[in-house]
Amino acid sequence: MPELPEVETVRRGLTPAMEGTRIERLELRRGNLRFPFPEKFEADVTGRTIIGLGRRAKYLLIDLDSGKTIISHLGMSGSFRIEEGAQQTVPGDFHHERSKDEKHDHAIFHLESSKGPRRVIYNDPRRFGFMDIAERSELQTNPFLFGLGPEPTGNELSAAYLAERFAGKAQPLKSALLDQKNIAGLGNIYVCEALWRSHILPTQAAKTLVTKSGKPKESLELLVSSIRDVIADAIKAGGSSLRDHIQTDGSLGYFQHSFSVYDREGDPCRTPGCGGTVSRIVQAGRSTFYCPVCQK
Ligand SMILES: [Zn+2]
Repeated sequence: MPELPEVETVRRGLTPAMEGTRIERLELRRGNLRFPFPEKFEADVTGRTIIGLGRRAKYLLIDLDSGKTIISHLGMSGSFRIEEGAQQTVPGDFHHERSKDEKHDHAIFHLESSKGPRRVIYNDPRRFGFMDIAERSELQTNPFLFGLGPEPTGNELSAAYLAERFAGKAQPLKSALLDQKNIAGLGNIYVCEALWRSHILPTQAAKTLVTKSGKPKESLELLVSSIRDVIADAIKAGGSSLRDHIQTDGSLGYFQHSFSVYDREGDPCRTPGCGGTVSRIVQAGRSTFYCPVCQK
């Protein structure tokens, strides 16, 4: 599943191709993805100018001059492809390579730009992605976006805030960090990475990072800065791979993160001087990768 840094690199890659263009036509090749496309979706967007692209958690937000916003989620296997003349670009930074098989092209934005016609194509073999449209003024209460916690890189996320959320919680830290009401857009990969960076055991109770008086312990301060760093580093890495590949054709290389613990079971821990071996356990049905020596 694409994680927040991947969605952010998709947003950054799509922005120059979509911002300021007019949607000449939206072509929907089926009635649904994970959910049905919104009613009158094509009519709602036709002739509208795209004024900007935003992101909230793992949702891509495409702002139209009508005051409405298209909400797009990439699901498990969704990606966008930009076609301009014979040139193709797939913005984004995915751990697993993305499909370019045209039979999985489900939604096509036919755009008019100052440089001529352009197509932005949504491809999704497994169809777990979806699109919705809402009034921008009502995004806060949209069912997909309602109740999401702060962004992992935003100023709202602080150790004091998490101490409030974690106080008294016996829930394992891993699950508490994956809870989108606590932090929005943090997924399995970056939770593992952030816990490893802060040398904290994923199985320990969330409340153990909070003092009896409800204040964040030093370990929680460290965890918050690790979360920020791990996301910022991934966005930076994705962004640089985008810049490297932006002008290439459809065969562009997909940047793969070199994760520190994720997907490294049995490999040596990268903490200097640790000497441990990365282990994998299953928590709430998801793999957790960690080092039993330096994470405690
Ligand atoms: Zn270690």
